[in-house]
Amino acid sequence: SLPALPVIKAIASHLPTKTAIIHNSSRKDFNYGSLLKDIARWRSVLATLGDATVESKRIAIMGENSYQFVICLLAAVSLPDTIAVPLCPSHTAPEITYQLNDSDCCAIVATERFKEKLAPLVGERQFIIYEDVVLPESQEVAVEEDTTGIVNSSGIILYTSGTSGNPKGVVIPNATLTAQSLSLIKAWEIKETDTLLHTLPLHHIHGILNALLVPLFVGATVLFQFPFAAGPVLSLLAHEDETAPAITIYTAVPTVYSRLSTLYRTFTPEKQAEVTAAVPKNLHLAMCGSAALPDPLRNGWAELSGGQPQLLERYGMTEVGMALSQPLSEDERNSGSVGKPLPGVYARLVDKDTFKVLYESVGWESEKWYAAEPASEDDQVLGEIELSGPTIFKEYWRKKEATEESFTTDASGRKWFKTGDIAGVDGAGRWWIKGRESMDIIKSGGEKISALEIEREILSLEGILECAVVGLPSLEWGQSVATVLVMADGYSPMEFADLKAQLRLRLTGYKLPKELKIIDQIPRNQMGKVNKKTLVKQVWPEKF
Ligand code: ATP
Ligand code: MG
Repeated sequence: SLPALPVIKAIASHLPTKTAIIHNSSRKDFNYGSLLKDIARWRSVLATLGDATVESKRIAIMGENSYQFVICLLAAVSLPDTIAVPLCPSHTAPEITYQLNDSDCCAIVATERFKEKLAPLVGERQFIIYEDVVLPESQEVAVEEDTTGIVNSSGIILYTSGTSGNPKGVVIPNATLTAQSLSLIKAWEIKETDTLLHTLPLHHIHGILNALLVPLFVGATVLFQFPFAAGPVLSLLAHEDETAPAITIYTAVPTVYSRLSTLYRTFTPEKQAEVTAAVPKNLHLAMCGSAALPDPLRNGWAELSGGQPQLLERYGMTEVGMALSQPLSEDERNSGSVGKPLPGVYARLVDKDTFKVLYESVGWESEKWYAAEPASEDDQVLGEIELSGPTIFKEYWRKKEATEESFTTDASGRKWFKTGDIAGVDGAGRWWIKGRESMDIIKSGGEKISALEIEREILSLEGILECAVVGLPSLEWGQSVATVLVMADGYSPMEFADLKAQLRLRLTGYKLPKELKIIDQIPRNQMGKVNKKTLVKQVWPEKF
């Protein structure tokens, strides 16, 4: 059977005095012993919520990244038939209302700070302010007792980022969270001695799984520095303040690495040299994902860290946790690829037109070509990513049809989740993300063009800060390639002829943009993702 939830496991490994969580702002730290006790006390509070005659319940949680939030989350998921629904504090009232109604929560637990924001949205639900609760007397908690409390009728509902439409509630049972955590711990060799710097939102898979559950699962320390700001983060990574703990692991999204590099470039040469010398001293793993990582960002980090540690890129989604990852060994990483399936992950590549399986690989176990094997490492076979195994979600919450549509069953009865993402697999079995079928794959004149590939090339040109490549409706081509650019500070708008001339040296003719618009900023959601369906309508309203 699978081990229980992270904290419990860590305590069971006799680490009661080990620091679990640190609030960097106040330098308050909380050890595993008190974490376990506080979870038990909060469980008794949460157990009284909702209608006792109703079998299962959902409890929404809203707080800053803090010890309190972690307690409430873990207390909720360790109650039988209870599902925690972490909410995003910066979401608007309609977004929050949508998630409260959709998940059908019976109660909301929030910290004082969000009382005013939530009060008008609560409706009939019970509303508990964390600071107001008088907890039952602290009791000694037997590890056995707590471990048996972990049941798989519990877990979390996480909403997808809403990049391509309305966010969908993804049901992730505890067993799935456990399988996802174990896979990452194995692949990335996360240890009890690690300290992870956490600057991500806690309503998203990256912030909850990679940056919270995984370190807690092994008894490591999580340091919250939130909200993200480049100054304090660089300072922590360089261990400038010796009274702060030394950070050994960092995980973030591409925009974060972009901001770190931008700040670093404003430093004097002396200060840059200091940072570059200091970062690799403790930090041994720096990871990036949630959106594509263009080369200039990877190089920006390499400049900052002196090349060590290199960024490790991985691919995941709310529905599956993490699925593909570059190897831990830096010698085997390959810029632009997201590596191979993680342990326990079944991944296959399926032709979008013929539905034929082209390639299949079980993480760290086996791989098999059903199509002609690419002749060299530069060749790639393209298809949709489909995933299976114990790390894959069970269902979209109360969306039976959407759930059924997103799975397919093979001849052996195995269920595969259709990710909607297109990838290439090369002759060495490495996966290269080409983007979402619905937004990033441009179908022009019979060719399928990856917007991400073109974005990578454009971002390598001088003076470009941001870029989004999109498909515009075209009578002649079906879709035509177009690009939106944001110029870097101090650069005048790039002429279209100039862009084409530069790109011609890097891309074949049919991939060249046929239109260009320069704007001030590309709208992104909290995870740094671009909704291209809305962007394209904003920038070219006359085409729709
Ligand atoms: P929605 O499903 O509501 O449209 P979303 O798909 O953006 O939102 P998430 O589950 O947070 O919500 O994101 C998963 C998606 O992020 C993947 O399907 C993929 O398109 C993208 N992604 C994740 N990691 C990478 C990566 N390393 N490179 C490119 N894209 C990535
Ligand atoms: Mg999605």
